Parts: sequence; structure tokens; C-alpha cells
Amino acid sequence: MDRPLLISSLLEFGARYHADSEIVSRSVEGPIHRYTLAQSHDRAKQLAKAMARLGVAEGERVATIAWNGYRHFELYFAISGMGAVCHTINPRLFHEQIVYVINHAEDKYVFLDLTFVPLLEALAAHLPKVAGYVIMTDKEHMPETKLENALCYEELLAAEDGDYAWPEFDELTASSLCYTSGTTGNPKGVLYSHRSTVLHTLAVCAAGGAGPTNRSSYLALVPMFHVNAWGLPYGCAMTGAKLVLPGPRYEGDMIFDLMDAEKVDKAAGVPTLWLLLLGEMQKRGCKPDGFETLVVGGSAFPTSMIETFEETYGINVHHAWGMTELSPIGTSGTILPAMDGLAKEARWAVKNKQGRPIYGVEKKIVGESGEPLPEDGEAFGEMLVRGPWTARAYFNDAEATAEQFTEDGWFRTGDVCTLDENGIMQIVDRSKDVIKSAGEWISSIDLENAAMAHPAIQEAAVIGMAHPKWDERPLLVVVAAEGETPVLEAVNAFLADKVAKWWLPDDLLVLDELPHTATGKVSKLNLREQLKDYVFPGV
Ligand code: AMP
Repeated sequence: MDRPLLISSLLEFGARYHADSEIVSRSVEGPIHRYTLAQSHDRAKQLAKAMARLGVAEGERVATIAWNGYRHFELYFAISGMGAVCHTINPRLFHEQIVYVINHAEDKYVFLDLTFVPLLEALAAHLPKVAGYVIMTDKEHMPETKLENALCYEELLAAEDGDYAWPEFDELTASSLCYTSGTTGNPKGVLYSHRSTVLHTLAVCAAGGAGPTNRSSYLALVPMFHVNAWGLPYGCAMTGAKLVLPGPRYEGDMIFDLMDAEKVDKAAGVPTLWLLLLGEMQKRGCKPDGFETLVVGGSAFPTSMIETFEETYGINVHHAWGMTELSPIGTSGTILPAMDGLAKEARWAVKNKQGRPIYGVEKKIVGESGEPLPEDGEAFGEMLVRGPWTARAYFNDAEATAEQFTEDGWFRTGDVCTLDENGIMQIVDRSKDVIKSAGEWISSIDLENAAMAHPAIQEAAVIGMAHPKWDERPLLVVVAAEGETPVLEAVNAFLADKVAKWWLPDDLLVLDELPHTATGKVSKLNLREQLKDYVFPGV
């Protein structure tokens, strides 16, 4: 039967068949909030009615600037469910980028957490098309605000009953919109459809043990403003997994306590957050009770961390790779049954790679003139992807579309990778970050991974710096571990048996902190800018 795949059906199903499954949020106002999928569904319907009353029509964009919490969850379903487009904004973008994305998307309303009232007050004068701002709190916590047309979320809901039937429409209707903060130029919009989102949800839930099930308590550390929190809100609604949402505080003790209290068995986030949790685990000498599977993606995860989580704490590390343009999941890093007998080190080496394609993500690596390269684990080139939840264009951006999409229907990821005979992918580098030394390529990611295992180093980035003889040479920039002073000679001695000799960094700089992008990755663009006057000693 030709039944449309609609996002509203995920929550409707969850509310009917997993009615009592919980959504637990650390609220912006402070206390832990908990309710059930059935209650969430009722409120999402009230919210859809409230938005219709505000004049939001099908196809119009409604923005959110919010942490991971239950009201944000309701917005995901209410906005898309009524046929409008849920535009989740990353609050860590530069102010001018936030202005750009709201204007580019032509957002009609902006829903914001209390935290972001001052931010929107500062920007509102530049947002002429926004009809109003809905502050995601109750009457009691409504702040004094300079925002014109500021409305209270709970008051809007209280005015509606839940008597609402989700409309049916074409599954190819746009459902949500995320902007990816490119390293250069304006952010680029990726528009998802109901069909792509539902198919991606099915794939996430089938992704080799990393997805939610009706028995999981799942912590979404990955922000809901970053690629739909990797699809977890949809997946938890569909499967009835308990969904745990961390709210505004991202600190080691808070993450630990929340996981411990809610008996979280699976959690997903980027490496920097796992570093925070690991620090707390080391302090307390244990892991949060019941924690079994750590899902990591977004940037490379050093082997030393995989080893510590698995060996010291018995936590299964599940590595995934993806991109905003892929909804985002593209691979899943499971150990194949044939690898079960591998020695520990070999196992961690496999887990350090980015994993195998999941069904629905076709991949190939190509050389500089677009020729396909062998999948032998050695040859590396740019990864191209296509599939039913891969974007086919950027939203209203012909220039960026022409750059990133090939004429024969593939998306150019910008990731330089190897693929082996099992389909396991390993990122060598971002195409813009790879270091070209005397015509040969050095992987900044491999060097960083190896350097991060050095006990004196807390965080590392490697960038190629101009060199008169070799074209570019690697510069290692680090944040020192507490009480340590890393020096080049010692670090290079440590790296000597881990990377080729000619890869060893020519210099090491210690900084107080590394610049990060809005999604928590080290911003090499900013780092290069910061170090633009740097010259290698003796050159
Ligand atoms: P975003 O669209 O912000 O999610 O960023 C996507 C990019 O993050 C990819 O193109 C990769 O360069 C990087 N990335 C994502 N997952 C991983 C991973 N598991 N290991 C290394 N880099 C990753």
C-alpha cells in the first residue's frame, strides 16, 4: 500500500504501543522533568494546534534554539507533524551566522530556551521576518524581555486541547532543516523530508546494537541542534526506549550523575564529551551504573580512549561516522563475527576506524580526477556517498550545491578515506586538512590520534605549515595534561614506532586551549588563522 512515511507516525506509534516509556530531561529551570511518551504525544498535538493558531502554515519554517529537553522533543514532532519545517539552530554559531541562517531559512517563529533570551534580544533587530519568539518555559519563569512578540510556551499549550489529528501529506514533504557550519563561507542548509527521516530512523534502530530498543535507557548527549541528535528522538519514540536529555549543563559530574540515576545503558556523543565523562569516571574510580555502550562520532576517537573505556571500565565503544548531509549516520563500527578472535590491540585498531556502511548508504572513494580507487585498505581518496537519506542539494544554495554534488548524483563528503575489502572505512583526513609534504600526504588525524595517547598531552591538533623545502610540514599544537609540559623530542620519541619517520612533527606548540567549531571539533581554520605568522625554527 502506498502509505506515506510521516514523522508524526513515529510518535503516534510510540504513544500507542510504548505509552509508559519515559522521557527524562534535566530542565533549563533546574529540576529533573519526567513524563511518558503518551503525555508527550498529547502535548505535541496541543502544540501543533497552538502553532496553527499562530498562523504557521504547511511548508513554513519554525526555528528552535534550545538544549536537549522535553519541550524541544515536542517541537520536533509538532512542527514536522503539522507539515511545517523544524529548523534547529546551533547556538554556538557566530552571531552573524545565526542571523544569516534565520533570514536564509525565513523562519516565521523562533522557539527558544530561557538561556538564549539575551542572545535573541541582541539579534532581533536583524531578523525582520520573524513574527514572534516563543520562550520555552512556564508563566512563573517568564523573564522580563525586550523581545517584541514574546510568547510563553506553556501558556500557548494551556490554551489548546489535544484533540488534533495529524494531517496526512506526501512523504517527500520537507520536515526539518539543519545548517552545517562549513569551514569557509556561510552555513549551508540541509533540508530533510519525512521519508528520509523515517527511513534513517529505521536504519539507526537497526545499526548493529548501537540503536535504541524498548529495553534501552538512552542518553542523547549529542545536541538536538546538531543533525537531529543523530536521529535519537525519532528512534526512541518509535522503539519506546527511555530517552534521557541532559539539558543545558555539559559537565563531567552532571553527565555521570544523570547516567547513574537513570541507569543509562547507551549514550551517544562526540569525543570531547566522552573525555569529560572519562575524567569524572577516573575521579570516582567507576563507571555510571549500568552503562554498557558508548556511541561516538563527529570526530576521530583516539585508540587510547577506546582502550581505556573498554579495558578499564568494560564499556563497549561503538564508533559511527556521519555528516549533516547524511541525516547523519553513514557507518556503524561493529566488530564482524569473523573478528571475534582478534587480540585486544587488533580489536581496538578496528574500532578506531569509522566502521562499515549501513544499508542505505552507498559509498566509493575516488582519486583526484574522479576515478574509482581500489577498496584495499591502502588507496585513499575522497569519499562519495549516495542514498535515500543523503541530501541531493543544499537548501537554496546553487553555488555550494555545484561544489559538493556531482552531476551523476553523488555527494562529495570532503573526507579523504580508505575502504578495505570488508567495507571498513578509515578517515585519513578532511581533504582541506591533509598535509602535503614533498608531494606525499600526511594524515593529520593519524598524528593527532597517536599524539593524544602521550600522557603529557590532553588534546592535540596537527596542521600543515608552509615549509620552503618540503612545501608543508606538520606542526603539533597541544593542550598539556594537568601539571605536564610536553616537549617535541619526547613526544617524537613516543611517536617514532607509531607513524612513518617522515611524518614526525617538525615542531610542537603548547596552547592553553584549542579553538573549537560550533559542533565541538577542533577548528583548524581558526588555528591556522591564529598561527598565521608562525615559522618553523631555523627556517
Ligand atoms: P557534521 O556535518 O558537522 O556532522 O560533520 C561531519 C564531519 O565530521 C565528517 O565529514 C567528518 O569529517 C567528521 N566526522 C564525523 N564522524 C567522524 C568520525 N567518527 N571520525 C572522524 N571524523 C568524523
